[in-house]
Amino acid sequence: MTVVTTLPDRRLLLVHAHPDDEAIGTGSTMAHYAAAGAHVTLVTCTLGEEGEIHVPELAQLAAAEADQLGGYRIAELAAACAALGVTDHRFLGGAGRYRDSGMMGLPTNEHPRAFWQADLDEAARHLVEIMREVRPQVMITYDGNGFYGHPDHIQAHRVAMRAVELARPEGFAPTKVYWTAMPQSVLEAGLTHFAGSSDNPFAGIEKATELPFCTPDAQIAARIDATEQHAAKEAAMRAHATQIPATSWLYSIAGNFGAEFMGVEYFTLAVGEKGPGSGPYGWEDDLFAGLPAADDPDRSPVGVVGHR
Ligand SMILES: [Zn+2]
Repeated sequence: MTVVTTLPDRRLLLVHAHPDDEAIGTGSTMAHYAAAGAHVTLVTCTLGEEGEIHVPELAQLAAAEADQLGGYRIAELAAACAALGVTDHRFLGGAGRYRDSGMMGLPTNEHPRAFWQADLDEAARHLVEIMREVRPQVMITYDGNGFYGHPDHIQAHRVAMRAVELARPEGFAPTKVYWTAMPQSVLEAGLTHFAGSSDNPFAGIEKATELPFCTPDAQIAARIDATEQHAAKEAAMRAHATQIPATSWLYSIAGNFGAEFMGVEYFTLAVGEKGPGSGPYGWEDDLFAGLPAADDPDRSPVGVVGHR
């Protein structure tokens, strides 16, 4: 049977490694576009089975004990997506197909289902099928270092970029691909602000450039100001209670820096043409900037045809 599903004109796909990455890294952007009527699809590659557990009553879920943390985190992710207003969230290849690999160099990297061990093309084909269905114009994932070097983040980057390659000849690859980033100027402001503080998230860091995700301002392509969504992002983070303790510096920074810390997110552009922007570096304020007007029926698909 052929069905025609009409999706919103603007479609954004995010590829993340673990439940909680979507909220911490891109929560405000997701909530911003969902609230604006865009179709936001989140693909999470693993269940985060190897995460730490910050809720003492749930300690027994740990990988070394009942090994049920992944299942528990499915519900945390669902609650986080609800807080962000995102209804389309999926696990790459289905829940449990790929397992959290744990930190680089640990024996968990060798687990037969570890995402780090995934066959690149097989994993990418799962994502290609989602692209075929959703036809996202814009995709967000990590840079080649996975933002900070976790094997599942690096693998998410590889799988997402391979999926773009595989989808392009078929005509439904996203036109623009962004990677999450932090501008050097923002990190430097944070270092200055927290210097000498007892709750310094930058403790031990002398220069912003020591941080793996530090990106020269000139290389940033987009600054998404979603400060109106800062509370949604914080609610999504709190939904990941096993991962982010209520005492986390993430929340204390939010208290100090307010809406801007939670609500503004930055990206580099890896694929596609930068659209019009502003400021000294021409930062875009919209990830869809420069794309054909989504409501122009001659230039944008109005629906998605698929077989069910
Ligand atoms: Zn992660």
